[in-house]
Amino acid sequence: MLTCGQRCSGHRQAEEVVGEPTRSCGHGPTVPSALVADAALIVDAPAVALAIFAHPDCPIVNCGGALAAWSRDGTAVHLLVVTKGERGGEDGEASDDDITEARARHLEASAGLLGLSSVEVLDFPDGEVVNNMELRRAIVARVRAHRPEAVLFHDPTAVIYGDRYVSHPDHRAVGWACLDAIGAPSSGPRYHRDLGEPHAISDAYLCGSLEPDAFVLIDAVVEAKAAALRHHAGEAADAQWITEAVRARAEDAGEAVGVANAEGFRRLRLG
Ligand SMILES: [Zn+2]
Repeated sequence: MLTCGQRCSGHRQAEEVVGEPTRSCGHGPTVPSALVADAALIVDAPAVALAIFAHPDCPIVNCGGALAAWSRDGTAVHLLVVTKGERGGEDGEASDDDITEARARHLEASAGLLGLSSVEVLDFPDGEVVNNMELRRAIVARVRAHRPEAVLFHDPTAVIYGDRYVSHPDHRAVGWACLDAIGAPSSGPRYHRDLGEPHAISDAYLCGSLEPDAFVLIDAVVEAKAAALRHHAGEAADAQWITEAVRARAEDAGEAVGVANAEGFRRLRLG
């Protein structure tokens, strides 16, 4: 299933992508299929990238292609996941430990497929994430440790997609925390003097945006993204449906910039 593993409010988006009924949540927007005015095709991979997401499978759904493409181009791609994802799935009887163990295993397999340099999973409570100083400090600490040119995270301003999908509250909380952490709190020498040397980020790529204006070519890694998502979906998932959904979404985003396959982002140029 093309899903974040969390219960989301709506299922329409994935249906729109693949053109058939589905039981999954779409977990993100459908990028406009028409050419996007002034859209940029990102051709230079950053030296270092840091992806920051709420749940273990969010980064795969949102930017697994870009992370894999950049990894292949030599980027050191680091991933920070804020929760272990213990609220995910449909099994109300499973223990939290069983769920988190499975999700950690799937994440490790996905990280290998995408070529990630490091993965760190924090223990903020799934489904209860709030944008507070504890979370922002956790983000600043990783920014200063990894020193990325580019960061990728949820677009918190994207809330309602169409008429059936509402973004998960953890996605919004993490997105806002990132926006609040990546500017002066990371680069200013008088902020968080206990969290390492200040670091200025050049670009932020907001994922799941309703206003994508920057696109990363993912022709060579569409299948790797689909394979990573299949890991997260589990054995009971419809593997063919996942693969087709990933391909359809990549093609849709590619249309926006006139390429075969892409992922779309809203870019903030900070540096
Ligand atoms: Zn999620």
